[in-house]
Amino acid sequence: MLAYTYMEKGRFALTEKPKPVLLDEKDAIVRVTLASICASDLHIRHGSVPRAVPGITVGHEMVGVVEAVGSAVTTVRPGDRVTVNVETFCGECFFCKNGFVNNCTDADGGWALGCRIDGGQAPYVRVPHADCGLNRIPDPVSDEQALLVGDVLATGFWAARISGIGPQDTVLILGAGPTGLCTLLCCMLKNPKNIIVCETDPVRRAFVQAHWPQVQVTVPEGLETFVLANNSHGGADVVLECAGAPDTFALAWRCARPNATVTVVALYDTPQLLPLPQMYGKNLTFKTGGVDGCDCAETLELIRCGRLDTTPLITHHCNLRDIEDAYALFESRRDGVIKIAVHMDGCE
Ligand SMILES: [Zn+2]
Ligand SMILES: [Zn+2]
Repeated sequence: MLAYTYMEKGRFALTEKPKPVLLDEKDAIVRVTLASICASDLHIRHGSVPRAVPGITVGHEMVGVVEAVGSAVTTVRPGDRVTVNVETFCGECFFCKNGFVNNCTDADGGWALGCRIDGGQAPYVRVPHADCGLNRIPDPVSDEQALLVGDVLATGFWAARISGIGPQDTVLILGAGPTGLCTLLCCMLKNPKNIIVCETDPVRRAFVQAHWPQVQVTVPEGLETFVLANNSHGGADVVLECAGAPDTFALAWRCARPNATVTVVALYDTPQLLPLPQMYGKNLTFKTGGVDGCDCAETLELIRCGRLDTTPLITHHCNLRDIEDAYALFESRRDGVIKIAVHMDGCE
C-alpha cells in the first residue's frame, strides 16, 4: 500500500509499505476511508517534534472501517465505522482513570500514531489499545462529519472544557485556523455572553463572519483596546491561545482580565517567555498542554444530534497520491484552505 512517510527532518514522501497486521491482542486494523492533514504533521516535518521517529507513516486524524481485531478487543468489531483517536491510551493507569489520557503511562501511551508508530495517511493503520482508541460512528453521521473527531475537534472540546467558561464570560480565541475554529465551535456549546475571535488572515476572518455571525471578529493590532471596549470586566474572562505565533502568547495574557484563565492550546515551535514580574498581581491561571482526547463518544453524539458541525472546515479534498500538493496547499494557507480530506481510493 502507499503510505506518506516521515523520511528525515524536512522531508515526507509517498512510499510503498506492507499492509499492517495485528501485533497484539488489543490491536485493531482499520481500513482508512478519510484522513486529514494537521499542523502537527508540519511540526514533525520541521523537526520540532523530537519524539517523532523517521520512517513512520504520518497522519493521526482519520476515520475508517474496522478490518480486523485482536482477541482482547471488545468494543468494536470488523465492519464497524470508527473514528481513530490521536492518542493511544490504556484506560487502566492512574492518568487514564483520571481522564488525563495524554499522559497514559503505557509504552504506546500519548501521541503515538503518526509520530512514534505508523499513522493513518495510508489506506490501513494498526491501532493499539483499540478499545480505547476507536469510537463507533453513529449510523446517521457521515465519514466527513466524523473526520475531525479524533484530533482537532477533540482538542477544541478539551480546551473549552478545561477553561471553565461561564454564561457571563467574554471568551477570546486567538487564531482561526482549524484548531481555533474547533475551539470556537466547542466554546459556543458553553453559551458564554460573547466570543471574540482574533485572526490575522482576512480570508479566515471572513470565513468566521460568514458561518458564525454572532461571533465578534478582529485583528491582533489594538486587540487589548478592542477587548476592553467589548467587555466590562477589564479584559477577557477566558483566553484560548490557538495561534502559536511568536507574539501570541504575550497577547493572550495581556488581553486577559485579572484572575482570568488563559488556556494555551497552541503547539509552539520555540520556547515562550513567561514574564512573571510583569504579570504579578494579575493572578492568572494558565492551563497548558496536549489534548486529553477522552470525550470522542460525547462529540460524536453532539454531531449526531446536530449541535456540532465541523463539515464547513473541510474546504478541500484530494487523493493520497496527491498528498504532496495538499501539504503545500495546507502549509501556504492558499485558496481559503482550512482542512483537507485525503481519500484513499486506489492506494491499497
Ligand atoms: Zn493533529
Ligand atoms: Zn493509561
